[in-house]
Amino acid sequence: MRQILLACLIFFPLLFLACSEDILSSFGTVDTLITEKEALSQNFSRPTPVYGMRVAIRDDVDGDINNILDLLDKRAADFLECQFMMGAGIGSGDFKIPSGNTVFPLSMLRVFVVPFTFECEALDRDVCTGIFYPSSDLIIIAKESMNPCGILRAWKHEVGHRYGMAADHSNQNEFEPCIDPPDCGDDLIDLID
Ligand SMILES: [Zn+2]
Repeated sequence: MRQILLACLIFFPLLFLACSEDILSSFGTVDTLITEKEALSQNFSRPTPVYGMRVAIRDDVDGDINNILDLLDKRAADFLECQFMMGAGIGSGDFKIPSGNTVFPLSMLRVFVVPFTFECEALDRDVCTGIFYPSSDLIIIAKESMNPCGILRAWKHEVGHRYGMAADHSNQNEFEPCIDPPDCGDDLIDLID
């Protein structure tokens, strides 16, 4: 037990350090502004295999496209199961969230995948790793903003916004830990809008 504790004490600060350093390098590769209008003009021709989310992947995103589509599905399913505990199938139909609002099936959601953190028109920041536009049911998501903290790291967070997390994050505590990104602590959550 003591060894485990010791390992945690050593490991987690290292993880934090690795991620913090990455903030600096990631700001070196911030992409130019992506507007909601520009994102909406994409061709959302790649449906995800499970939920049928409508995805557009920008040409300069590298890696296996099928892997990206699978991750979008899998992590959305993980989030839904974790958050509402009624199975991942709730993403396939209309779903009434606790506030009383109805969220439409994930097949209605458009997702624009871009390579890096980008300038954005968010309420309280101008650099985004991901952003959700409720009025157009659109998420813009960076594939690699925060390596080594995992790819698509803001994805669950943005899906959380679609399923009731307030734009000002006032109820974010109700969504933890289901929105936590993989492979990283929540120390960088400030960078996600
Ligand atoms: Zn947010």
